[in-house]
Amino acid sequence: MTIVPARHGYGGLRGVSALNFLKRRRREGIEGGGEREDGVKEVVSGRAEGVGNVLIVGGGIGGAYTALNLIKEGVDPREITVVADEWPPYSRHRLPEALKCGCLGGLELGVAEELMDAGVNVVSPARVVSIDPASREVTVQRVGEGEEEVSYDHLVVATGGKPFMPPIPGIGLRGVTTFYGLGDVKRLLSLRVGDRAVVVGGGLVGVAAAISLRRRGLRVALVELKNSLLPQVIDPPLSEPLRKYLTGVEGIKLFLGSRVKRLLGSERVTAVLTDSGVISADAVVFATGVRPNSELLLRAGASNVGGAVTVDGWGRTSLANTYALGDCALSKDYITGKVTYRPLGFVAAHYARYVAKSIAGKASGQGTAGVVPTIYERFGEIRIYRLGLSGSEAHALGLADAEVRVTRHGNGVWEAEVVADGLIVGWESVVIGHKHVIPTVTYLSELRGRRTP
Ligand SMILES: Cc1cc2nc3c(=O)[nH]c(=O)nc-3n(C[C@H](O)[C@H](O)[C@H](O)COP(=O)(O)OP(=O)(O)OC[C@H]3O[C@@H](n4cnc5c(N)ncnc54)[C@H](O)[C@@H]3O)c2cc1C
Repeated sequence: MTIVPARHGYGGLRGVSALNFLKRRRREGIEGGGEREDGVKEVVSGRAEGVGNVLIVGGGIGGAYTALNLIKEGVDPREITVVADEWPPYSRHRLPEALKCGCLGGLELGVAEELMDAGVNVVSPARVVSIDPASREVTVQRVGEGEEEVSYDHLVVATGGKPFMPPIPGIGLRGVTTFYGLGDVKRLLSLRVGDRAVVVGGGLVGVAAAISLRRRGLRVALVELKNSLLPQVIDPPLSEPLRKYLTGVEGIKLFLGSRVKRLLGSERVTAVLTDSGVISADAVVFATGVRPNSELLLRAGASNVGGAVTVDGWGRTSLANTYALGDCALSKDYITGKVTYRPLGFVAAHYARYVAKSIAGKASGQGTAGVVPTIYERFGEIRIYRLGLSGSEAHALGLADAEVRVTRHGNGVWEAEVVADGLIVGWESVVIGHKHVIPTVTYLSELRGRRTP
């Protein structure tokens, strides 16, 4: 399947009538039927009486999965509108694969047709540019057209994140990019065999990007501030086999414990100056984390911590009838019960279920007990698994006595248990070769025992 950019595909008349339809439904009240401009007879199914117009901003995992869950909860799809600047939804997780093979097909999440066939209104390419919580209206700007006010009964903001680039000299030079979206992959595909790429950031995204570039025949260096790879995912002892694999098998030059100070070049980047020296570069790829893309809600007055929108167990923000989820919002950790910022797809998908239940009028109690991190990633011959907290995350979430107990099994399998207050709060494993390890049920029950309401 090929990704069709939204401006060549969905939107058009369908989007326009979606906006008009919403306005009319508002004027007529949700019980009013009537005929849409496209001639479709509107029939209110009664399955979702009282729910009203649901406006979702953002067509990524958070937005699309909320729409799917709303339908599952019995909300009339025709009362759901998604305003998305990109459509159809695609998986960022598969971007490294797309870079590796040079093919942009197969990235779609596979939900666009299901939603549109069900009757969900998709307005794309379009952006919501402001929210007025007092009048319950948003301003929508369609590409190449003017702005329009659209009212809502429930607003769901799933605007995702923004890749972070450190404000260092030379950051604006040509040849410098992030690794976050389709546009980044397209830019990197223009590089040729033998070109030199420097990846900044040794987390999941940076390591995956480095391997993909290497497989395309580039000479690749990776610079990481910390002394170990995947510092947000696994604890330092377990990253050692990955370090050996990346240097020995993949042929990637690693600069761990190094800070990038500036980028050199006049118009185009030619080198990276680090505190370990100068590294020549035809391209520099920043994989240095994500920040919440939450300006819309912040300008409307929503509570936040460091820009990530505060939500309760149902994804409700401090603004009436307004929800936020995914990379723009905070989420709750299941094990400690603490609120944290985890810009990961499975967190967005988890909250989408609770947001939908709440809008459908099925919320009772506190909502989600939180998310258990579950990470599986494959880098060539190496597999990385994590369930629950890493030692460093446990410390960051207040489990000061958390301790990482590492076992090397000797057959290419490393395992670590993260223990706090005598209970297992996390499990990590690194495996070389074609073996699978599966955390036993003991770990899961231990994690459940740790559960904080
Ligand atoms: C390379 C890479 C690999 C990853 N791998 C994994 C993984 O293995 N596992 C995992 O769990 N997570 C992974 N993630 C993270 C995961 O992709 C994100 O957490 C997830 O996409 C967040 O979903 P979201 O809906 O919040 O945001 P997004 O999926 O980014 O969707 C937000 C959408 O909203 C649109 N938008 C923003 N503002 C507006 C506006 N004003 N109006 C209209 N539309 C707007 C954006 O353009 C975007 O299309 C990865 C990310 C990257 C970059």
